[in-house]
Amino acid sequence: MTLESYIAKVRKGFPIMGGQLTKKKELSEGMVMLDKGNLRAVTAEAYNQDVFGAEVKWADAQAQVEKALAAKPVAKASAHDTRRAVIHPGRSLPQTVTAKHTLEKMLRDEFHSMRRKTRRILAPYVLKKYELPKLAEVFRKGADEDEAKKKVDKSLDDNWKFIADQSWEPLESAAVAGAAAGALQLQLEDEDVIQKINKQAQAWAEKRSAEMVGMRRTDTGRLVQNPNPKWAISDTTRDKLRSAISNLFAKPDANMLDWEKEIEDAGIFDDQRATMIARTESSRAQVLSNLMAWQESEMVSKVSWSLSADHDPALNCNCEDNADEGPYDVDDVPEFPDHPNCMCALVLETLSDEEAE
Ligand SMILES: [Zn+2]
Repeated sequence: MTLESYIAKVRKGFPIMGGQLTKKKELSEGMVMLDKGNLRAVTAEAYNQDVFGAEVKWADAQAQVEKALAAKPVAKASAHDTRRAVIHPGRSLPQTVTAKHTLEKMLRDEFHSMRRKTRRILAPYVLKKYELPKLAEVFRKGADEDEAKKKVDKSLDDNWKFIADQSWEPLESAAVAGAAAGALQLQLEDEDVIQKINKQAQAWAEKRSAEMVGMRRTDTGRLVQNPNPKWAISDTTRDKLRSAISNLFAKPDANMLDWEKEIEDAGIFDDQRATMIARTESSRAQVLSNLMAWQESEMVSKVSWSLSADHDPALNCNCEDNADEGPYDVDDVPEFPDHPNCMCALVLETLSDEEAE
């Protein structure tokens, strides 16, 4: 869904309110009566409650529509409306939740396939050793171990490419939703800016879907190795696989049960890992695009880092420093989120036109 159609949906009153509103039709009729300025105020308000509060009750939403009908039209974003704007990794938009589920299922399937492949490739090495213990020495030589590592590595290429292609769309959906959330928070009106933000969110998703598996796309769309990928899940997998294979080869009488144990301990093909990656990547797509919308809008000046209340001090992350050292210029926010499962938020502190005054 594009940002334009997304906002058009919000204007029609079938928005991002999740399943909480049971009388959407009545609400949308209420909204049709509103002028544009008020409509945005109401949707932004309901949106804030839905996404940033627990739930929107029909009665509350109706009261808001009535309040907005009685109020004067809102001409533009005011400091009062936007300063409450928050970017919170723990508050997923519906598109992000869907993206997470899609990614999670796809990653689980791929991880299972990768696990089976490594097993198939390593079995001959282990069987040989097992069957011919006297020759075990031969198979413990470095050349065989390297060969096994290379074979395993190469066998996973197709899986990584598949993951890159399959994660593109869900990441794009979460990114575009995050960008739309940013546009709504600021009540952006300029269609050029909205389009630019939309394009940037899409470009980000294309890049990230390849980068997360250590690749990038060429101009013709072909996937090639990325010399410098950030947070590539393939790097972790490769490193852990290599040391697991080393461990296997270090045992003269190793069998496939040993390999199962190595893989279990490495945790690289677990369902839990698939879930963690899906959650982290979809959430980051949303919040980074939301932040990007703030940056591109040129309406936001200062942003502060709000430290999550349930932060684990043992984690050794940068979050406490990040919270202390703010507020930041919107273009100068530290790496956000700082780590997987980080529940710290970004809070809009000052608008650019407030600075000028
Ligand atoms: Zn944190």
